[in-house]
Amino acid sequence: MTFFSRYLLEWYHGQKRDLPWRRSRDPYHIWVSEIMLQQTRVDTVIPYFNRFIGKFPTIESLADAPEEEVLKCWEGLGYYSRARNLQHAARQVKESYGGKVPDDREAVFELKGVGPYTAGAILSIAFNQPEPAVDGNVMRVLSRFFLIEDDIAKAKTRVKMEVLAKELIPSGEASHFNQALMEHGALVCTPKSPHCLVCPVMERCAGRLAGRETSLPVKTKAKPPRPETRLAALVEGRGEHAGRVLIRQRPSSGLLARMWELPHWPAPEVLGAGAARPGDAAAMDRLRRSLAEAGIAARPEEHFMAAEHTFSHIHWTLQVYRCREEELPLPVAAEARAPYAAQRTSSEAPELFADESGQSAERTEMRWIGRGDMAQYAFPNVFLKLLNAYFDERDAAASGG
Ligand code: SF4
Repeated sequence: MTFFSRYLLEWYHGQKRDLPWRRSRDPYHIWVSEIMLQQTRVDTVIPYFNRFIGKFPTIESLADAPEEEVLKCWEGLGYYSRARNLQHAARQVKESYGGKVPDDREAVFELKGVGPYTAGAILSIAFNQPEPAVDGNVMRVLSRFFLIEDDIAKAKTRVKMEVLAKELIPSGEASHFNQALMEHGALVCTPKSPHCLVCPVMERCAGRLAGRETSLPVKTKAKPPRPETRLAALVEGRGEHAGRVLIRQRPSSGLLARMWELPHWPAPEVLGAGAARPGDAAAMDRLRRSLAEAGIAARPEEHFMAAEHTFSHIHWTLQVYRCREEELPLPVAAEARAPYAAQRTSSEAPELFADESGQSAERTEMRWIGRGDMAQYAFPNVFLKLLNAYFDERDAAASGG
């Protein structure tokens, strides 16, 4: 254990990357970076982190910002509940701790969205407290070096790893050591092909000596995401809405809460193995009915494109249809940029938002937007790409390209 800690720390001092959140010990910066780094690569996080800290330089500024702005800053990073929880926690810190991140274990644990890993990271990196910060990367390194064959998907293995990781922290070196462990997992003891030949602890790595470096850690596979085909409408406006498309806001809780998107609904099973084929007349008919039920006067005209979006538990295939706004005497269709609401009833809710619950009576905000309006709304990546593809294609057609 002493060998491992000593050589890892030495290696870290010589090899650590210059990352924006390493340039200060500000607990707020460390906290933001750790939340962003969950499930996300460092290279992806860097520009987001810089933009986020530029826009919300203090906890107060984050606490006081409109949620829409926070989501916009997070747009494309995924797992948007992280952003909402971070803002909620910033408000907790502002109200209960005068805007200073607490250095007390109990208090840090009470912040929304802060689990054992993030709490350990904040307490150790910012306050140098000997707290373990154990995530999948750290468990991989420890499993290999100490030849631990316990299943890292199990909660009790994590607890065991936390005990070990805490024991490994050299006195007074919690901040550097925990970062060394994370950095080693990211750069050397990587998931698929660990770089054992340049590893600072390879000499005594039990996993490598046993030839197990690529078969460890043991991890039972998570259930694959459930596939779901959805019919999406790219409604092109006409008359006073000409040049714009219709977007709607998701409910205030559940999947992608309060993000903006193209309207879409689950494709009925009857369309064939749960999937609609591009250009399928039955799918277009179904979409037309879903649009009408939602109070949107539009007719699907042709298949635009398919797009994929994966969550931890669902995999969406979106079949997107170009639809044309119709002039029907529906009061909702008369609204221009003002929000219009399609009030849903309880019986319609499963049809409209099959992946949420308890949101049946919530107003659905909708907007007609042009390309220039996109900056005002936060979209999940898949819809951002779809809208950009649509506006690109339209601009190219308009310019004869
Ligand atoms: S020797 Fe290989 S398996 Fe062992 S800790 Fe180093 S990189 Fe990982």
